[in-house]
Amino acid sequence: MTHRALWNPFANMATLGDEPLVLVRGRDSTVWDKDGTAYIDAIGSLWYANIGHGRPELADAAAKQMRELETFQTFEYYSTPPAEELAQRVAELSGVADARVFFTSGGSDAIDTAAKLSRAYWAALGQDKKHVIVGRTMAYHGVNAYGTSLTGIQAIAAQFGDLVPDVAHVQWDDPAALEEAIDKLGPERVAAFVCEPVMGAGGVLHPPEGYLAAVQAICRKYDVLFVADEVITGFGRLGTWFASQRFQLEPDMMVTAKGLTSGYAPLGAVIISPRVAEPFYAKGSELVFRHGYTYSGHSTACAVGLANIEILEREGLVDRVSELEPILERVLRPLESHPLVAEVRAGLGLLGAVELVPDMAPAPVALEARNRGVILRGIRGVALQISPPFVITEDELETVASVIGDSLDAVQ
Ligand code: PLP
Repeated sequence: MTHRALWNPFANMATLGDEPLVLVRGRDSTVWDKDGTAYIDAIGSLWYANIGHGRPELADAAAKQMRELETFQTFEYYSTPPAEELAQRVAELSGVADARVFFTSGGSDAIDTAAKLSRAYWAALGQDKKHVIVGRTMAYHGVNAYGTSLTGIQAIAAQFGDLVPDVAHVQWDDPAALEEAIDKLGPERVAAFVCEPVMGAGGVLHPPEGYLAAVQAICRKYDVLFVADEVITGFGRLGTWFASQRFQLEPDMMVTAKGLTSGYAPLGAVIISPRVAEPFYAKGSELVFRHGYTYSGHSTACAVGLANIEILEREGLVDRVSELEPILERVLRPLESHPLVAEVRAGLGLLGAVELVPDMAPAPVALEARNRGVILRGIRGVALQISPPFVITEDELETVASVIGDSLDAVQ
């Protein structure tokens, strides 16, 4: 073989060449590369390693299920115990009374599912002009056609031209912008508003005080479905099972993935309120949601999800996030006085960002940190992402912060 076959997502393959960082082992918040070098995983791989790496219990859950029945599809009238049980657990944890759960293969699929279900819902109510899905500037909703069209990060969408029609964008932090957009489009055309309670890939942007309650109220006023994208914030990242609980939201749908299995198996889900489910579940209804993935409700992935939730509960890891929240803030905040730092964002769970001054790219800083044994990542080309496993120790958080400081010094 003369070349490396793996094409890395979001990578410059011309410069990456044969130099990937090959990781071979993980335990808690630490991963090791093929040469035996240890790194603190300060980003939870890709915002998902909530319970930490290398848990034998999840391997056992997967092996047990695979030995019994690796999976069976859930289309039409088929089902399996892990899919049934996980849907039940997720519905209970969601805080949405009598929720239904539609499984997908990941977050991007779940965004497509929520967008299509919004349109199908309104069509079922005879409002077949309600097609427009509204997203926000700075938003990231994955990379399927809907997610790419809905993103507010230009660099991600620009390469592809227009994909999904009937998508609109509003300023991310201004409720009035949403109301104006709905008014301009005509409420009879707007199906849903999709919103990350705390924006992730856009830079860990906190919602302005009152923003989320205000946009939810606007959605109610104009009969627009309110969809919370909790792919990052779901399953404990903010110290509550879902961000919607922390911000006292009542979304019509919640989109989730990542922490649902802590990444031990690919799985996403849409949590659906009774309002949206009703036309499909009402007695005598012949309406079918003609949508689903081969791996919707994959038995092994669901068994892994159940074991993951069991660990989160048994070890009190969601409460641990609340305990670590002020510690993460305490260690990161002093970085704000560094000449290369524009702003530190922390104070909402184990989710933080260090935004650099304009014209300072985060990638070289992340590389310096990697050479010092900490894995970080640049987001939107402006900030460093911090989203460690919930099992990270206080000492490790101190190390992450001091390595960020040293790495900033090194690139200065
Ligand atoms: N929505 C949000 C808020 C995300 O952060 C992501 C992924 O990072 C997605 C959707 C897409 O999820 P996936 O990469 O599992 O398709």
